[in-house]
Amino acid sequence: MPPSLRPLIVGNWKMNGLRDAADALTDGLAARAAASPAGCGIVVCPPATLLSVVGESLRGGEVALGAQDCHPAPSGAHTGDVGAPMLADAGCRFVIVGHSERRADHGETDALVRRKAEAARAHGLVPIVCVGETGEERDAGRTLEVVARQLAGSLPADAAGEDAVVAYEPVWAIGTGRTPAPADIAAVHAAMRTALDERGASGVRLLYGGSVNDRNAAEILAVDEVNGALVGGASLDADRFWAICRSCPRG
Ligand code: PEP
Repeated sequence: MPPSLRPLIVGNWKMNGLRDAADALTDGLAARAAASPAGCGIVVCPPATLLSVVGESLRGGEVALGAQDCHPAPSGAHTGDVGAPMLADAGCRFVIVGHSERRADHGETDALVRRKAEAARAHGLVPIVCVGETGEERDAGRTLEVVARQLAGSLPADAAGEDAVVAYEPVWAIGTGRTPAPADIAAVHAAMRTALDERGASGVRLLYGGSVNDRNAAEILAVDEVNGALVGGASLDADRFWAICRSCPRG
């Protein structure tokens, strides 16, 4: 990672949170970040219903706002969807695209994920492009092949630096309490870094996601080529999420 790139910790709240809980969580996080900088970038991605209220609480502080998905079109007849300009208007700086839950629940393909990431970038948002193998693919020894294919197919061709982020999230590790061995994470991240270097995208951060918590974060964040974490369940508790942020190696 170029020395100028800070690690990034991203909280994905998924389909969780009503207004009161979101206020408490956001205020707790913002207060901790203001009192003592964590040494990393911090992003929270609440559900769409909470973007404006969470964005308002975070305004001007250390923690950035992100969304969990966007439509490839900027506007139009797409009932229930949200376009990238709408997210930017709500104060977002980041948006997760291609999360495995969306790939599975909504049949999202690499090509669609790439269009979403391109739309995000066109409207000034940093896409966090998720890739990762299923348990069956891992057991079949196909992890590197699957991740390489998803990376090539999902990341916009001109993404090169801090304008895009990739998150390696093994599907079998998400929400299960199971994580790959550090050496396995290192092997996947090394392969992704090589692929990014070959396409002139050396500045793109590589996050690891999948059952990161306050007990395993330091070990995972110390793995070579891990430039941060995408955190689901543990991001719903301000103390635990903050402990993860504090686990980032200081440059
Ligand atoms: C995620 O949803 O991106 C995720 C990594 O979830 P968890 O941390 O709960 O495994």
